Parts: sequence; structure tokens; C-alpha cells
Amino acid sequence: MTDFCDRAAALEEAQRGDALDAQQRRSGLVGKTVSDSAHKCQVCTHPIPRARREAYPGTQTCRHCQAELEAATAGGATKCK
Ligand SMILES: [Zn+2]
Repeated sequence: MTDFCDRAAALEEAQRGDALDAQQRRSGLVGKTVSDSAHKCQVCTHPIPRARREAYPGTQTCRHCQAELEAATAGGATKCK
């Protein structure tokens, strides 16, 4: 049972890493560092918290604006169907 749980945990970790890598490639943040992150959102100019700058090196938008941008992108893709 432990072997099964270990394999499942390893698979989950690998899939999470792949998903994070894919997200980073889509967002154009590959190779960026924390120092590339904006201190103020490029959309609404609100401060971007340090935790977000560290979690998403190179980020240029706050969490709220990024969610709106991604929702708008997803909405556009849905309309094409
Ligand atoms: Zn913003």
C-alpha cells in the first residue's frame, strides 16, 4: 500500500510541476526572476504583494487583474466554438 501511495504522490508532484511549467510558459514568465516582477500592477496600479512577486517571478499584474485577463482569454476561446 505504501508503494501505491508513494507512486501516486510522485505522479501528483510530477503533474503539478508540469502544470506549473505550462502555466509559466503561457504567461511568458519563463526565465524571469523576482527582480523582474513589477511592484505595481500594470493594469490597475495597485501594489503587488511580495508573496505574489515571489510566487510568480516576472509578474506584471495583481491577482485580480490577472484573473480578469485569463477569464477574458477563456471567454474569447469559448466564443470560437
Ligand atoms: Zn491590477
